[in-house]
Amino acid sequence: MSISIQSIPSGPFQTNAYLLMSSSDAVVVDPSPRSTPKLEALLKEQQKTLSAIWITHSHWDHTADCHALLAHHDIPVLVHRFDAENLIHPGSDGIPSWIPIKPLASATLLNDGDVLHVGNSSWIVLHTPGHSPGSICLYNAEEGILLTGDTLFKGTMGNISFPTSSPFLMGQTLQKLCSLPKATRVLPGHGPATTIGAEQSWMAVSAEQLQDKEPS
Ligand SMILES: [Zn+2]
Ligand SMILES: [Zn+2]
Repeated sequence: MSISIQSIPSGPFQTNAYLLMSSSDAVVVDPSPRSTPKLEALLKEQQKTLSAIWITHSHWDHTADCHALLAHHDIPVLVHRFDAENLIHPGSDGIPSWIPIKPLASATLLNDGDVLHVGNSSWIVLHTPGHSPGSICLYNAEEGILLTGDTLFKGTMGNISFPTSSPFLMGQTLQKLCSLPKATRVLPGHGPATTIGAEQSWMAVSAEQLQDKEPS
């Protein structure tokens, strides 16, 4: 394995921040509220240089510590283009935050199919809208690992009742994720890890039901 992954559940919803570490550099996925002290301690202990922040989607429980990290690291924040506005203007998606969220000056915009790197590991950006318009999953095909944010959890999917959610698109997304290899290890934005194989049966049923609903 060319990469090691640590999860750091933090904040009021125990959002999983993930630290992806190669032999040299490291990337934080979803810097959740108050995850920074633990992330910094791991970086120091493992002697890694932080090279970027990747955001699975723009909800504040996944982005709150961007500023705390950027205070000590001059690094880009990568987010899907459809969720970027909510980082630049926090709260513009109509979801109230429990803590003050500082706006980001800029973000690097992602598209479906982009390939990101940590050391020599490759992560494909899968656009998986439904929970939010710009939700992504990050897929390492070589290692069989999928970071799913709030799109897919063990036993359930992300909330699709938010103003910017789309049940129809979540249906398409679940269908797309169902086609990944069964052994794919799913690392979600909340709660424990699972696999595509363990979730596939309910995902297929939900995919069908949700796609019956016309997009509004
Ligand atoms: Zn969310
Ligand atoms: Zn969340």
